[in-house]
Amino acid sequence: MTFKELSQYLERLEKTPSRNEITSILAELFKKSSPGEIDKIVYLVLGNLAPSYQGVVLNIAERMMLRIIAQAYDEDINKIKALYKEKGDLGTVAEELASGEGGSISVGEVYSALIEIANEAGAGSQEKKISRMAKLLGELTPLGARFVARIPVGKLRLGFSDMTILDGLSYMVKGDKSARVEIETAFNVFVDIGVIAKIVKAKGLSGLKGIKPMAGIPIRPSLAERLPSAEKILEKIGPKVAVEPKYDGLRTEVHIFSQDGKRKVSFFSRNLENTTRMFPDLVEATAEIKVKTAIFDAEAIGYDLKTGKFLPFQETVQRKRKHDIEEIAKKLPLKLFVFDILYKDGKSFIDTPFSERRKILETVVGKSGAKLEITRQEITDSAETIRDLIKTYLSEGLEGAMIKKIDAPYKAGARGYHWIKYKKNTGGGVADTIDCLVLGVNKGRGKRAGFGVGAFLVGVRQGEKFKSVSKIGTGLTDEQWRELDKRAKALEVNQKPKEYELHKNLEPDVWVKPSLVVEILADEITKRPIHSAGLALRFPRLIRFRDEKSPEQTTTLSELNKLYQMQKS
Ligand code: AMP
Repeated sequence: MTFKELSQYLERLEKTPSRNEITSILAELFKKSSPGEIDKIVYLVLGNLAPSYQGVVLNIAERMMLRIIAQAYDEDINKIKALYKEKGDLGTVAEELASGEGGSISVGEVYSALIEIANEAGAGSQEKKISRMAKLLGELTPLGARFVARIPVGKLRLGFSDMTILDGLSYMVKGDKSARVEIETAFNVFVDIGVIAKIVKAKGLSGLKGIKPMAGIPIRPSLAERLPSAEKILEKIGPKVAVEPKYDGLRTEVHIFSQDGKRKVSFFSRNLENTTRMFPDLVEATAEIKVKTAIFDAEAIGYDLKTGKFLPFQETVQRKRKHDIEEIAKKLPLKLFVFDILYKDGKSFIDTPFSERRKILETVVGKSGAKLEITRQEITDSAETIRDLIKTYLSEGLEGAMIKKIDAPYKAGARGYHWIKYKKNTGGGVADTIDCLVLGVNKGRGKRAGFGVGAFLVGVRQGEKFKSVSKIGTGLTDEQWRELDKRAKALEVNQKPKEYELHKNLEPDVWVKPSLVVEILADEITKRPIHSAGLALRFPRLIRFRDEKSPEQTTTLSELNKLYQMQKS
């Protein structure tokens, strides 16, 4: 396929707000593409060059992109800056100046050029990136230039994500959504969406039968539901349940495998980002696990060296950084609590009952070390015992308990009652905090003028749409207001993102692109038709910024409805 043709599809995708139409455009695009190019097309329509866990990025910031555009079209940099100020979008600037024929350049050629630019490293790489990217832009049609100029700066957002791609693939093979579950099941254990698309394209759905977890490729994590009481939990998943402490740390999927004859360890966050380099201390600790190939699910949490007490999340999360890693590792040591095993030496345990997985885990991990331990667990059928355990965990400074269904498979990528979280505030008020997306901000007035932001609008997710649920103007510390202002400024967009649905009267001063996730604690959930979610949060307080969560991982409207029902019962 030529890149010119792909650009026309991108334009159609950009124009339509309708998800059904997006799905059918994608299906048409996938039908037309060959097995050799469909993976690249999938990455590109998502605004990426590879699945996110591979961390392939162009590393071209906005300022560099301005220089690239100036060079590509032989224009003065000041003119480009002025045009950018006027248009507010680098893609439109490039499109206005481009005049390339670009008729024959293929998707594969554009993709390879972008990969080469991404791989450029070392001395002089900056200049090489600029001239290569400028050359590429110069060859593209105006429409092609619009989209390619947006990719490096993360602005190629067409208003959908992975799940719509999976729908598009289902429509490609079946003409409807009937294959979606099958495709998603494969994707849940093998998150390279490009490879999934390639297999479906080349071999049809039967090709997916061969998909199983592979060490080195993350599995989409399992997530927990909530219930209001120990009795309800036993009723739902009993008679016997496994009770474990809930650590308020960083989800860490641990992959051990061999590469080029050497033992390799990779860690993936809840977001499936590769975080291995951030935790050299934990990588070292995994040397104790005597296994050739395996995948574990675990939580890493910081502890105080002197007292041995666990640290609050705000401190643990400081370990999520790209610089001064050794230094912070000394100051904030982590401990890894391993609670599941999903794969070992060619065998997947995804469908193995939890009690069996636990036995396997105990034989594989063996005794605990100072930095790595199997999560302690108790099997019980008594509500009293569950309550006592929760009290013990809370007194140790932990977040609460995870209560697990003994015979459940590992539900990759799914929230369900196989795991039930029970936190401090469960049983009184709203049973859980709510992870919301920041949709936009309003300028501060009075005292808040100094903070920049005075109020912000948050939403919950329904499919790939975000519906407003609260406008928050109190409940933040001065420092949190300033932090919010800083973050919102970096994510400002001049148009309402396609995914946002809200009442006109609630439109904020400034839109924030879908990226910033905040954890909100509310006293109550009430019915409020002014919010497009139909529900609103009363007395909301910002608990923390949830950098490790992406917009797709925010609380869904159906979860919020369940929380609403729970507080009534
Ligand atoms: P939540 O993010 O509130 O849905 O809770 C699920 C999260 O709890 C998981 O993503 C893990 O990071 C974390 N977690 C802490 N302790 C455990 C445990 N024992 N079992 C499973 N998940 C745990």
